Amino acid sequence: MRQIDHFIVGGAGPSSGRKHQVWNPSTGEVQAEVALGDAALLQRAVEAAKAVQPAWAATNPQKRARVMFEFKRLVEANKQALAEMLASEHGKVVEDAHGDIQRGLEVIEYACGIPQALKGEYTPSAGPGIDVYSMRVPLGIGAGITPFNFPAMIPMWMFGMACAAGNAFILKPSERDPSVPVRLAELFLEAGSPEGVLQVVHGDKEMVDAILDHPDIAAISFVGSSDIAHYIYSRGTANAKRVQAFGGAKNHGIVMPDADLDQVVNDLAGAAFGSAGERCMALPVVVPIGEDTADKLREKLIPAINALRVGVSTDKDAHYGPVVTPEHKARVEQWITTAEQEGGEIVIDGRGFSLQGHEKGFFIGPTLIDRVTPQMKSYQEEIFGPVLQIVRAKDFEDALKLPSEHQYGNGVAIFTRNGHAAREFASRVNVGMVGINVPIPVPVAYHSFGGWKRSGFGDIDQYGMEGLRFWTKTKKVTQRWPDGGGDGSNAFIIPTMG
Ligand code: NAD
Repeated sequence: MRQIDHFIVGGAGPSSGRKHQVWNPSTGEVQAEVALGDAALLQRAVEAAKAVQPAWAATNPQKRARVMFEFKRLVEANKQALAEMLASEHGKVVEDAHGDIQRGLEVIEYACGIPQALKGEYTPSAGPGIDVYSMRVPLGIGAGITPFNFPAMIPMWMFGMACAAGNAFILKPSERDPSVPVRLAELFLEAGSPEGVLQVVHGDKEMVDAILDHPDIAAISFVGSSDIAHYIYSRGTANAKRVQAFGGAKNHGIVMPDADLDQVVNDLAGAAFGSAGERCMALPVVVPIGEDTADKLREKLIPAINALRVGVSTDKDAHYGPVVTPEHKARVEQWITTAEQEGGEIVIDGRGFSLQGHEKGFFIGPTLIDRVTPQMKSYQEEIFGPVLQIVRAKDFEDALKLPSEHQYGNGVAIFTRNGHAAREFASRVNVGMVGINVPIPVPVAYHSFGGWKRSGFGDIDQYGMEGLRFWTKTKKVTQRWPDGGGDGSNAFIIPTMG
C-alpha cells in the first residue's frame, strides 16, 4: 500500500501511528494510506518554521518573488502529472483537475508581484518636520486547513500569499486527497524556498486542534464545511489568533423571464453537475421567475441532463466523475430521498446509478428535483452532489428573497437581458459573490474571494489585496529628525494639526 507522509523538516519520523485510507473514487478501491499526525509532530514543524521565518521575512521581496516565479514554472511543467494524481484521489475528471491547479496558479502569479503589493504608505511633512510611514510585515507562522474539493487551488490561495509576504506556512490538507498538497510543497522547495517555509502536516481533528491551540501560530485560514468553520473561528479567535474561516454554500441561479434559456441550460448543466456538484461555487438551486419560465426551463433541462456522461476521472468524454468517498455517496443519495419525502418532485433520479465496468466506484447520476420550497430541509442544507433543485418564484422580489434569507451567502447568479434588473439584484442581494449571466462567479486572483453569512466567518477575504492584508500586519512609524534647536512646542499637550 502506498504511504503518504507528512512533509516537514527532518522528515516525518515517528508519528502517532494512526492512518487514514485514501480512496480511488473511480474504482472504489483504497489506493493509499495517509499518516495522521499529532501535537508532537506539529511541534516539530513549528520549531522548523520558527527557525527559518525571520530570515525568510528579511529576504528582499524580489528574491521571494523569484521563488514564486520558479514555483509557477515547475507546477506548469508538472501539470499533467499533478492533474492525474489529483483526479485519482478526488474523482473529478482530469481536465477539470487542470482547472483546479490553474486557478491556484493564478494566485501564485499575483504573488509574483509581491514587491509591488507590499509597498507601504508614506506621508512627508505630516507635521512640522514629521513624516509618517507604514509598512506591511508578515505575521510569523501561518496555518491553512483545507477541504477535499480543491486540493491544489485552495492550498495555493493560502500559501501563495502567506509565503510571498514573508511568513512560514504549515498546511493541513484534507486527509481524503493529500497527495497533491505534498507534491506542491516539494515543488516549492525545488523552486528555491528555504526548507521549512512551507510544510505539510496531515491529520484530522486531533491535528486541527493542535494547530488551533498552538501559541506560535499567529493566523489560521480555513476552508471547509460551515459547522467546522464556525468551530475553527471560535476556538482560533479565543486563542487570540487571526482567523478567516470559509464554510459551505447553497448558491442560487435566478432566471428572469427574459433570459436566454438555451444559454442558461448550458451554464446550469456545468455549474450544477461539474465536479459532481462538489464545488462551493456550484449552482445547485435554480429559481425561475413565473410558472411559464419554470415550465420552459424544465423542458429544456431534462434532455440536457439526460445527455450528461458520467465516467471515471480519466474518461476524456465524461462531464463529471464519481464523488469522493462511499460515505459521501450515501449522504447525497439520502438527501435525494429526504427531498422526495418532503414533497419534492424527483424529475430525474440519480440514485442507484452504476457505471458499467466500474460498479464499485462512487458514482451518482445527475438528479433534477422540481417544486422544492424554502421550508424543506433539503433546500436549507448543502447537498454537495450532482443534484439540481428547482424553486419556483412568483416574481423578482420573491426570487431576491430566497438567496438573501438563506443561511449561506457564498455565491449567486442572475440570468437576464435586463441591465436594470441585474443591477438592482447585484446591489440588493445579501450574498458575497454575484454573477450576472455568469454561473460561477469566482473572482479572478487580483480581486478577492469570500462569501457571507454561514459561508464565511471573519472579515478578510482570500487572495488579492485582501489575502495580503490577512497575512500581514501594518507597522506605522512617525519620525522626526530635530535639528537640535528645539521647536518650542509644549510636550504636555497632545499634538494636533490645528
Ligand atoms: P470538511 O469541513 O469536512 O473538512 C475541511 C477540513 O477540516 C479538512 O482539512 C478536515 O480534515 C478538517 N476537519 C474535518 N472535521 C473536523 C473536525 N471535527 N474538527 C476539526 N477539523 C476537522 O469539508 P470537506 O468535506 O473537506 O469540504 C467540503 C466543504 O467545504 C463543503 O461544505 C464546501 O462548501 C466547503 N467549501 C467551501 C469553500 C468556500 O470558499 N466557502 C470552498 C471549498 C469548499
